[in-house]
Amino acid sequence: MTMDGDNSQPQAIADVLIVGGGSAGWMAATMLATALGPKTKVTLVESSAIGTVGVGEATIPPIKKFNRFCGIDERAFLAATNGTMKIGIEFENWGGRGEKYLHAFGNVGRELDGLVRLHHWWRMGQSAGLADYPAWEDLYLARPAANAMRFGLPGQPTGNPGDRLVHAYHFDAQLYAQFLRKISEQRGVAHVEGKIASVGRDGESGHVTHVVLDDGRELAADFFVDCTGFRSLLLGEAMEEPFEDWSRWLASDRALAVPSAPDERGIIPITRSIAHNVGWQWRIPLQNRIGNGHVYSSAFSTDEAAEERLLSGLDTPARDTPRLICFTTGRRKNAWSGNVVAIGLSAGFLEPLESTSLHLVQTGLERLVDFFPSRRIEPALRDRYNVLVEQEWTQIRDFIIAHYKVNQRGDSEFWRHCASMDVPDTLTELLELWEHQGRLTIDGGHLFQLGSWSQVLIGQNLLPKAVHSLTNRTSAEAAARDIRQIAASLRARAEGLPLHKDFLESYCAGF
Ligand SMILES: Cc1cc2nc3c(=O)[nH]c(=O)nc-3n(C[C@H](O)[C@H](O)[C@H](O)COP(=O)(O)OP(=O)(O)OC[C@H]3O[C@@H](n4cnc5c(N)ncnc54)[C@H](O)[C@@H]3O)c2cc1C
Repeated sequence: MTMDGDNSQPQAIADVLIVGGGSAGWMAATMLATALGPKTKVTLVESSAIGTVGVGEATIPPIKKFNRFCGIDERAFLAATNGTMKIGIEFENWGGRGEKYLHAFGNVGRELDGLVRLHHWWRMGQSAGLADYPAWEDLYLARPAANAMRFGLPGQPTGNPGDRLVHAYHFDAQLYAQFLRKISEQRGVAHVEGKIASVGRDGESGHVTHVVLDDGRELAADFFVDCTGFRSLLLGEAMEEPFEDWSRWLASDRALAVPSAPDERGIIPITRSIAHNVGWQWRIPLQNRIGNGHVYSSAFSTDEAAEERLLSGLDTPARDTPRLICFTTGRRKNAWSGNVVAIGLSAGFLEPLESTSLHLVQTGLERLVDFFPSRRIEPALRDRYNVLVEQEWTQIRDFIIAHYKVNQRGDSEFWRHCASMDVPDTLTELLELWEHQGRLTIDGGHLFQLGSWSQVLIGQNLLPKAVHSLTNRTSAEAAARDIRQIAASLRARAEGLPLHKDFLESYCAGF
């Protein structure tokens, strides 16, 4: 191994090749061009003949960190991608038919007590039996704001985190890739158009040395980022990294996607997830259209029946014919093998119920920068990376499974299958402790914290049987009075926010 004069400092990676130009490829290009600096050459190769998956329009709040790191201006980004603000996801027909609840981003309204979490007080106040007692979701500012189609950026901190809306974005995935491409190229990323025909590997180390395009051109690099989508050309095919199939817990394997006209009434700042008798349908409002799609399982529905459900569930006229996308839920056992790291669909897929795929692209890249190797490709960095990625995927997987497992629908074979299926032990333990004592057994690094779990579990009628024993320091009537005051103050606060549509028009004006 050659050294740069100093024995302790191994040679830096000089060339990185990103293979694939979907959202994952261009997010990787933007992040690496920003993080690695001019000494490392970053090249992206993609085939317009193959194209991209072209969906992926809803995100979660940590994406703001990606934008901050990459120096992306929020207004320019929203203007370029027909983007809108997102403050949560509304689930309809999940707990039971005709019911709905919001999974709002951010913190619950003011806590009553530093020791006992608010959901215990809320649950105790419920036993006072007041007719207009607020629902759990009413303790989030996002609920009244979404009802009124309003949005405002957080102002000066008030000391009460519940007073602020926490936001992510909806955007057009194709425009997003174009937007990031422009930034990446300005930062020196080279772009190559071409279809990869084969992948060359070193006979001794097994590392990838180069890719060969179908016109014979060869592209060599020290390190490869596989962003080739479901095909997983480098990690799956060339490095033969095994795929772990999770479809026994998440039965859906198909999606139909179709755009429709915008809603004349305004732009609601939430993603909607509407459960059908098989699977569910998303509704994502952009500035110029609504993105719709139906995720379902081919074991429980034909494609024709799914298309019928999708089209009859649209709020506004379709602007195209539905496009079918097939997938298998699961992930490559190791996301990093040799000198290849897979980012995006090439690393695995979890259905978009909680909009987590682009987030996994982001965290995969943040970790890659954190653990960026030298030309030695240090095994300790690779192994740690793989452990952390597996932990994150498994935790998110369990959260998504919980939506299916905790349903009381019973009105179709699909929902009965979901309610009766075995789930991972980690999830069984979590649900048991929640149900018996209202406690949550997750560590601080979990993407979904108490606010998220409590909204989904309470929203789907899995109410804790008991509250924290220290909650008894006050009476149910006093707790109920405080809870009603919190909900009322949030409603008043939401009324002072601008309409989301007006907000976007003035915020993006001039971009
Ligand atoms: C139905 C559905 C809904 C989704 N909704 C959301 C959502 O709301 N929120 C979210 O965060 N995520 C969502 N996702 C996930 C999201 O779409 C993806 O994570 C994201 O688009 C990244 O995709 P990708 O770049 O990995 O793959 P792709 O977009 O498939 O890109 C693959 C790239 O590899 C290139 N390529 C492949 N083979 C070759 C070859 N031989 N030679 C050269 N180039 C090649 C292609 O040309 C393309 O550029 C959704 C996914 C699906 C399927």
